[in-house]
Amino acid sequence: MALKTPQEYIDSLRNLKLKVYMFGELIENYVDHPIIRPSINAVAKSYRLALDERYRDLLTATSSLTGETISRFTHLHQSTDDLVRKVQMLRLMGQKTASCFQRCVGMDALNALDSVTFEMDRKLGTEYHRRFRRFVKHVQENDLVVDGAMTDPKGDRSLRPSQQADPDLYLRVVRVSSDGIVVRGAKVHQTGAVNSHEICVMPTTAMAEEDRDYAVAFAIPSNAPGIFYVYGRQSCDTRKLEGAEMDTGNAMYGGQEALVIFDDVFVPWERVFMCREYQFTGMLVERFAAYHRQSYGGCKVGVGDVLIGAAAAIAEYNGVARAAHIRDKLVEMVHLNETLYACGIACSSQGYPTASGTYLVDLLLANVCKLNVTRFPYEIARLAEDIAGGLMVTMPSEKDFRHPQIGPYLEKYLKGVATVPTEHRLRMLRLIENLTLGCGAVGYRTESLHGAGSPQAQRIMIARLADLEHKKKLARIIAGIEREEE
Ligand code: SF4
Ligand code: FE
Repeated sequence: MALKTPQEYIDSLRNLKLKVYMFGELIENYVDHPIIRPSINAVAKSYRLALDERYRDLLTATSSLTGETISRFTHLHQSTDDLVRKVQMLRLMGQKTASCFQRCVGMDALNALDSVTFEMDRKLGTEYHRRFRRFVKHVQENDLVVDGAMTDPKGDRSLRPSQQADPDLYLRVVRVSSDGIVVRGAKVHQTGAVNSHEICVMPTTAMAEEDRDYAVAFAIPSNAPGIFYVYGRQSCDTRKLEGAEMDTGNAMYGGQEALVIFDDVFVPWERVFMCREYQFTGMLVERFAAYHRQSYGGCKVGVGDVLIGAAAAIAEYNGVARAAHIRDKLVEMVHLNETLYACGIACSSQGYPTASGTYLVDLLLANVCKLNVTRFPYEIARLAEDIAGGLMVTMPSEKDFRHPQIGPYLEKYLKGVATVPTEHRLRMLRLIENLTLGCGAVGYRTESLHGAGSPQAQRIMIARLADLEHKKKLARIIAGIEREEE
């Protein structure tokens, strides 16, 4: 069976020996680094749940390529049921980690590239799809984590890739030979990059003919020569170095983003899935974005479940759980959270097969899903902070709480209801702080805004897919201006 254990996954990362920089240093052992390890634990959780009987239906699937049981994170969706289960899997993972678990970007890249390479070959006579499917089989058989790498640095946003003062601000092909291509550039905000075995690179925007060197897609092992990583900081990240796990709010799990630099990296032809076919870049970006916008209707909802639970628990610890306005705020949070889930499920159940057989989500509903995600988690976070109270941002550290002289005073004066230990109250407040202001807020708040494309990107897609002409026609018929065709 092609499923790794969590330990096998973590050991496989050690063997990669990636070049990771953080705080101005090359990190020798990044797998055990206290700032990085929670993000590895979050990915490892996907391996753990796949082996758990209770979650097998969500975390695993039957490969359409090999017939083997594989991780759903490496699966090509074969039905709307697969699309729905994907969203349910991501909600479950969000509930279990309360963080970004990083593995979805690669899944979304694989599914987008599958249909696009098929349609590109059919139109242009290229031979990318066969190569691509071989790569997917390799990923499935070895249960690998894939970093789906789309976002370029982009420099001056008013200029096209080929017009930039520095031509490397979008990743590009700098040499082509009979063996393969050499690429140069960078990918920013790369979720889970340091925890991945493979990087699947895609162009970041629709390219015109003059930008054809930037129309490139390929997969490369994450430790290929010329690739290195600069780890992204998160709010309050150095709390993980203080030896006071309570102060982190979520000591076990976390997300991860890194800047990935491609310093003239060679990619053999077997791993190249697009090279200068600029006509298909728009389709690839659109499909990848739609899958990832669907994803947010799962992962953010799962993390939202934890935040709502924390708000309800702290209301009890504070002795206000029965107040009518608190109950109403909790209802509002649930309403917002389930609306996001409804959008994730809706765009999945309205999915349809592409020419390659792989299912795609409904593009309009996926964009509506993500546009709601740019707003609702902020309101849920605001309500959680409202219920938590000011102590969330003024309470002393765990070390004070453990101090032999000061500790008893904190135990006494920071207590809520008599039946709940003070430590439980402080832990719950730290969890809410983590998700609204700390490391967890990267995944829950800011990523809700900008991840899978900033709100304007969804508005552009919604405007394009809205079909206002059809709606105007409906109005003309009802208003008696136009007759309905029989
Ligand atoms: Fe997955 Fe959500 Fe993280 Fe994206 S933000 S990688 S969908 S957990
Ligand atoms: Fe994301």
